[in-house]
Amino acid sequence: MPLVSIVPELIRARNMGYAIPSFNVFEPHAVDGLISALQKSAAPCIFGVYSGCLKEANIRAFAAYLRERVNQLEVPASIMLDHGENLEQVQLALDLGFTDVMIDASRLPFEENIAKTREVVQLARHYGAGIEAELGHVGLGDQYNQFGGARKGFTDPRLVAEFLEKTGVDFLAIAFGNAHGEYQSEPRLDLDLVREVRDKVSIPLVMHGGTGLTDDQYREVIRAGISKINYFTGLNKAATARMIRAAAEPGATMFGILSALREAYEETCIHYLEVFGAAGQASSTSQAR
Ligand SMILES: [Zn+2]
Repeated sequence: MPLVSIVPELIRARNMGYAIPSFNVFEPHAVDGLISALQKSAAPCIFGVYSGCLKEANIRAFAAYLRERVNQLEVPASIMLDHGENLEQVQLALDLGFTDVMIDASRLPFEENIAKTREVVQLARHYGAGIEAELGHVGLGDQYNQFGGARKGFTDPRLVAEFLEKTGVDFLAIAFGNAHGEYQSEPRLDLDLVREVRDKVSIPLVMHGGTGLTDDQYREVIRAGISKINYFTGLNKAATARMIRAAAEPGATMFGILSALREAYEETCIHYLEVFGAAGQASSTSQAR
């Protein structure tokens, strides 16, 4: 199974009641850990590349590495631009062979979000790429008590149908008490809002700010109607802790520390592929085809 757009896999996830993770990768050791996790879990997945990485000098080489590794996988996997800022950045991602893109114009007023998202949809369609947008605004965990925890930025369910009709995106990130990074206090998620939006739309819904929930909370979020979960902060924490341990070992080496990064990705990704219900879904997909 080569590199694919994740759209058909997300539709299947929505119908079957599981979620596909987007794990962010920044360099080859993390990629190797995630690849190993996908092989062991037989799961579909998204390799998320944060928009900031597209500004780095090595992005062409890194994208080529990612394409090569993902193309060798036997499970369906996508390379996706995470939080694309503008049309130029989306164009670059598509030229680099990314199979899905997110345009995040969620800070803009409703009509401007529509206009900017629409431009991206028109461009990305030529490449056969899937498109994610964000309606409502998912804030930061360190401002949680003033923002997401106070119901600020929440997706207005009355606007969803119009947004989808005018933009034609394939999947949609919504804000319902979720937040990027570490939550300042207990996440207060409005699952009734997720269910309300899910019942109004036929496309998959996305949760950003996945880190910080219990495994049972993830299962509830997925049952309520989320089909894609962006997960990174927990990977960063797990990898950092493990690399610090490796560095403190007698005779520590660079190789040992980098292996710790790879192992932390592998273990953490295996865990969440299982919790999200994605594990095993790649083999059943190929049988169904
Ligand atoms: Zn995000």
